[in-house]
Amino acid sequence: METTIVAIATPIGVGGVGVIRLSGPLSLNLLQKIFTPQKEQNFVPRKMVFGKVSFSGVTDDCLAVYFKAPNSFTGEDVVEIQMHGGIRLLEETVKKLLEVGATMAKPGEFSKRAVINGKMDITQAEGLIDMIYADSIKEMQVASSQMRGELYEEIKNIQNEIKDNIAHIEVALDFPEHEETFAEEKLKNELPNIIKKLQKLTNTSEVGNKIKNGVNVCLVGKPNVGKSSVLNALVGYDRAIVTDIEGTTRDTINEGYTYKNIKFNVTDTAGLRESEDIVEKEGIKRSIKSIENSDFVVFLFDNAKNSAESDKISTYNAQNFAKVLNKIDLKSNNNTKNFDLCISAKENVGIEELKELIYQKTINQSLLSEKVIITNLRHEKLLKESIENLQKALNDLQVVSLDCISVPILRAWELLGEITGETANESIIDAIFSKFCLGK
Ligand code: GDP
Repeated sequence: METTIVAIATPIGVGGVGVIRLSGPLSLNLLQKIFTPQKEQNFVPRKMVFGKVSFSGVTDDCLAVYFKAPNSFTGEDVVEIQMHGGIRLLEETVKKLLEVGATMAKPGEFSKRAVINGKMDITQAEGLIDMIYADSIKEMQVASSQMRGELYEEIKNIQNEIKDNIAHIEVALDFPEHEETFAEEKLKNELPNIIKKLQKLTNTSEVGNKIKNGVNVCLVGKPNVGKSSVLNALVGYDRAIVTDIEGTTRDTINEGYTYKNIKFNVTDTAGLRESEDIVEKEGIKRSIKSIENSDFVVFLFDNAKNSAESDKISTYNAQNFAKVLNKIDLKSNNNTKNFDLCISAKENVGIEELKELIYQKTINQSLLSEKVIITNLRHEKLLKESIENLQKALNDLQVVSLDCISVPILRAWELLGEITGETANESIIDAIFSKFCLGK
């Protein structure tokens, strides 16, 4: 018999309210062993019941709700208990439920059961986790689209097109003299289109990764150009120490801001200059590494100094960057035409323009407006492998027999099935859900 699992569903800490969740055939039965309703009443599905949880001489007022299978998150009988949110209280209640017959849930086990019971597919469960961890509106929008099954639909449609071709190959293998040429023609016409659709979907991962992890922006420049001041202006509060003592920022400092619903991670690097100081040297080494790992580098220059330096500065391995002149509140002879943008971090001038510049240079607008965006590396990898298999089939079309062609086509179909979970084996499913949080 399926076990009845239990876990604290709210974050581990202190809160006004904490929720314990049970799922499995004994959920209601176990609840009734520790919970007494205030009035004599039966549990009606989806109706809150006020009562008391009592054990070891402790009594807490709480609310309990029962969801009858299959109309629950997991598709099983589910119970949720809302109690006061003290961690010890919640843990002791779980302990009591374990004593009376519940089993401790593994991370992601509620969602895993929901998938196994057909309440959702894996992409929807992954969307749900992305929603929980999201920290920008765009990330939530993509997660909710995935939760609604839009990625699932897209993959399913492509899988159906592949399946249609597999069916024609099978008929052709049975009746080669009539069907072989037809099946080959069909593959020649349709495989490129299927590959194109998969490629289009895969391409969205470029913006998808940025939506999920944030756009990495690195501030680089000589000591005292105002890197820490620019970081503070971008994030909107005094995160980094600003001084006029050179070499103050010895390590990299990271902080985030959100612009147009997208998260940007800014790194304030140690100023790049020749230094004999070991700590500063290490900081400079890290700065160069940050440049290489960034989506965008802002090379800052000091208006109080001669900007001829701007022509000399190395851009290291930066692929995508802008030259920005800071301290334009100070008078100088610098030629502003040498720079992409002129700002004053101190006076908060040009900061919105800097955010817009970074946004424009890092976010591909046409990818951003796609209905389905890939944000998950697992999906991206499977899509790429699927494309490779279809490409192989297309390349081999004139060279090998139809039954050999069907092997990579079938593999492409299976790989897409791993995205939705349809063809994912137990160990793949376990690996996916083990990354989920406890109680979800
Ligand atoms: P970092 O070493 O590149 O991180 O530079 P800081 O942000 O610590 O700034 C160095 C000095 O330049 C500090 O005294 C800041 O107040 C000053 N500073 C930074 N930005 C501006 C600006 O836009 N205008 C003026 N006038 N001073 C600035």
